[in-house]
Amino acid sequence: MKKGIELLYNEDKGFFLFTEGGKIDWADHANDAVSNIYETLALDAAIGVAMEFYSQHPDETLIVFTGDHECGGLTLGFAGTHYESAFQLMQNQVVSFETFGLEMREYMKSNPKFDAVLAKLQENFGIGGEGALKLSEYETKRLKEAYLFAKGDKSVKLSDEEKHLFYGGYEPLTVTTTHIIDNKAGVEWASYSHTALPVPVYSMGCGSNQMEGYFDNTDIPNTMMRLANLK
Ligand SMILES: [Zn+2]
Repeated sequence: MKKGIELLYNEDKGFFLFTEGGKIDWADHANDAVSNIYETLALDAAIGVAMEFYSQHPDETLIVFTGDHECGGLTLGFAGTHYESAFQLMQNQVVSFETFGLEMREYMKSNPKFDAVLAKLQENFGIGGEGALKLSEYETKRLKEAYLFAKGDKSVKLSDEEKHLFYGGYEPLTVTTTHIIDNKAGVEWASYSHTALPVPVYSMGCGSNQMEGYFDNTDIPNTMMRLANLK
């Protein structure tokens, strides 16, 4: 954001800067809530830089913040935890789906024992430890199946429908683990794809009273152009 403003700033003509926190979407496709949170914090910091610019140019700056779609059907609430949540458990995850998935694809080639894989999961996600992070029988069964499937073990027979529903094309142990830690925290995913959930539009600055709430997506650029006196 800072570099973009520095390069585009033009006192006479003004400028338009579009900034995307694009990896939020990738984390959602992979059903990794912790990576979503870190990427959202990074975008929040970028918005902070835009707000600093706004504070120096309050009469001629409009900041518009929105998502181009929701992804993953991320919900705060999970059938298994009833009304409870335990978001602090997510702090035990120290790696993204992307990094860990690549590592696991390599690691599984060495034909590791299930216990060795569990040790890696404990190290990177905390699961398998004591208390709330202890794995239930059901969770262990899911991980065992993902392990055998990732190994290419012939004893696991999954239909294409099951493969997609369980793993969505991602590295099986990684996506099963993010599902488990997110569920333990009280978070659930509905999809590996973009969803039809509405996304709000927030804004600040010049003309912001005309850019708040829910918009038909094609009205967003039209309204911004009108506010900037562009045809
Ligand atoms: Zn996407």
